[in-house]
Amino acid sequence: LDARASNFLAAIAGSPDHAAIAWVDISTGEFHVETTVALAAAIGRIAPREIITVEAFAPSLADYDGQLTLRPSNIFEAKRTERLLCDAYRLPSLDVFGHFSPAEISACGALLDYVRLTQVAAMPKLDAPRKSAASGHLLIDAASQRNLELVQRLSGEKKGSLLSVIDKTVTASGARLLAQWLLAPLCDATAIIGRQDNVAWLLAQGSERGKLRDTLKRTPDIERALSRLMMNRGGPRDLLALEGGLRASEQMRAVLEHSTELPAGLFTLSTALGSHTLLVEELTRAVKRECGLFARDGDFIAHGYHAVLDEFRSLKSEGQKHIAALQTRYASETNIPTLKIRHNNILGYFIEITQQHQSKVSQEFIHRQTLANNLRYTTVELSELERKLGEAADKALKIELELFETLVAKIATAHEAIMQAGRSIAAIDVFAGLAELAQAQRYTRPAVDGSLAFHIEQGRHPVVESALANGTHEPFISNDCALGENERLWLLTGPNMAGKSTFLRQNALIVILAQMGSFVPAERAHIGMVDKLFSRVGAADDLARGRSTFMVEMVETATILNQATARSFVILDEIGRGTATYDGLSIAWAVIEYLHNRLECRTLFATHYHELTTLTDSLPRLACYSMKVKEWKDTLIFLHQVGKGAADRSYGLHVAKIAGIPGAVIARAADVLHQLESQKMGAKNLPASLPLFAYTAAEESPARPAALEALAALKPDELSPREALEALYKLKETL
Ligand code: ADP
Ligand code: MG
Repeated sequence: LDARASNFLAAIAGSPDHAAIAWVDISTGEFHVETTVALAAAIGRIAPREIITVEAFAPSLADYDGQLTLRPSNIFEAKRTERLLCDAYRLPSLDVFGHFSPAEISACGALLDYVRLTQVAAMPKLDAPRKSAASGHLLIDAASQRNLELVQRLSGEKKGSLLSVIDKTVTASGARLLAQWLLAPLCDATAIIGRQDNVAWLLAQGSERGKLRDTLKRTPDIERALSRLMMNRGGPRDLLALEGGLRASEQMRAVLEHSTELPAGLFTLSTALGSHTLLVEELTRAVKRECGLFARDGDFIAHGYHAVLDEFRSLKSEGQKHIAALQTRYASETNIPTLKIRHNNILGYFIEITQQHQSKVSQEFIHRQTLANNLRYTTVELSELERKLGEAADKALKIELELFETLVAKIATAHEAIMQAGRSIAAIDVFAGLAELAQAQRYTRPAVDGSLAFHIEQGRHPVVESALANGTHEPFISNDCALGENERLWLLTGPNMAGKSTFLRQNALIVILAQMGSFVPAERAHIGMVDKLFSRVGAADDLARGRSTFMVEMVETATILNQATARSFVILDEIGRGTATYDGLSIAWAVIEYLHNRLECRTLFATHYHELTTLTDSLPRLACYSMKVKEWKDTLIFLHQVGKGAADRSYGLHVAKIAGIPGAVIARAADVLHQLESQKMGAKNLPASLPLFAYTAAEESPARPAALEALAALKPDELSPREALEALYKLKETL
């Protein structure tokens, strides 16, 4: 084996144009998976020595013929592979891995299966598969998305989500695109900077932005209208929408084309808006301004567009005049002034008189219907007129439907160009909206590059800030955050309500905003590209999914430890809160050590376990920060300021006192606290690595507790019942 090159075995599942590829280096245990639309490129990058897959992929992998091993498709089957992975990693469910698609699970499972098959003698120890971010997007798993309330609150409301605060778009397609961008920020600095250039230009060119947004406000949803028409579900109003949308598109192109120093991105978008003059003109001439939803109802083609149609229409309106004349004649002939000719869908046209005039009707009247007060008749002449009228209407409708088909066919031939225009409109709306946001909320342009920097000056939480601005509350307090070389991991302490969670989240949100190409709520920001972002909150309520809150907390934490890389950004908010104190403390402790020593990712960790601050002694890149509080008379004032150093731990009792807990109870609590501390149960005396999570120690020498040793030594067959009972008592004593 070449020591300088990886030796990957890969498995491919899914479909050739949307494939999941899993790969493992048996010599290192490295195990990755990703989904790709460019399979060849992915294989090229990974350069596996051997590829296992199913027959269906053989044609598209002809280039790798020599490396291909075809396996029966049942090996890739979903249930089977899932079970295999759960068993191999001793997991209750695959949730721990984060969000894997069925194809990804299938590829991972089949790979594992193959390794087992070929390495019977010594099954190598493989890492848990990691989803790689090679798709070019910042990975935000489902739990983080929820915790950060990106598109909706935990309560399910849209209002109060990050999206609701940053969305200044004025079209539906723009809003959809913004939501997509928010959930899939980029990982490519060049692409991000390209987006920023567009936002910056639109921010600087206020008048152009104003013109574009005015036009956008009047722009119907081209994308939706087009897809309805193409699926034969469209109607006349979709034609109008296209006309309006394409007209707006031309206006926007004019605005952009006449601008100077247009950034490349906007220039491309402006070109993609295209030219649709002929189609717009045609639709303008063809479609009535006010028309119905369905083509089958007719009456949507404009007057003057089609001569024959107009002729039938005039026949129709003449017929209607004839009928009006007939009514006047019948009324005078019968001397029934209230006689009316009416129309309904069952009888068609009919003559209607009231009961009292029954004796006056003429002989030509043919009785049709008797109602409580009215009588209804027809005549040969009326029927004849009606028939002609119906014929004209049928012919007119037929022509209208044909014209509709023709227009749809014309649109279909321009489909590609219209689609592009629709997408460009959406993108322009997003950029103009982000520029509007930057101006309204004083967001600034972050520096984004391939480093591992994380330097935020006077960052703010976009949602909390806007909530405070809307209320009568005090202003939002901005805070710096710098996760430098020597402070990769910040441990944040402070009393309840001091602003810990807000601070953690604001930094995660700034990462997301920056990588989606937006400006950010900070005076200055420098962010080295993040590949995956994780956010966890201790003991989140997940009753809906029927899992214990602590279980959820641990499953979510496990995902991070399995998936994060040195390029990831992690915020952990009071992890370990969902269980007993020492359990929770030891878990938090071990998690921090693992993050610090193994993963080395940029991390913010908020905790109420004050004991953890002693970790600075053993972890060089861990730094303690705390939320500043001031005591004033009998209250605590939260300054919402992050400062260097650990918090004073006595605040718990302060808060209890302020909350109105009786003095005697406070005094007793202080007493108990003092005793606990003097018994030296604090963290200083916790073993450097706790048995439960001592991954390094445990991996090397699994020490068996004394009770287990004693149990192993017992020979049940040689014991009398009495001896057995004695042994049991002894065992209990050793515990
Ligand atoms: P903790 O997590 O420490 O309990 P939170 O982050 O939940 O505290 O903050 C509690 C409340 O304090 C928030 O709802 C918000 O109203 C306010 N707050 C937090 N941070 C700030 C800040 N930087 N400026 C102004 N108000 C803040
Ligand atoms: Mg909190």
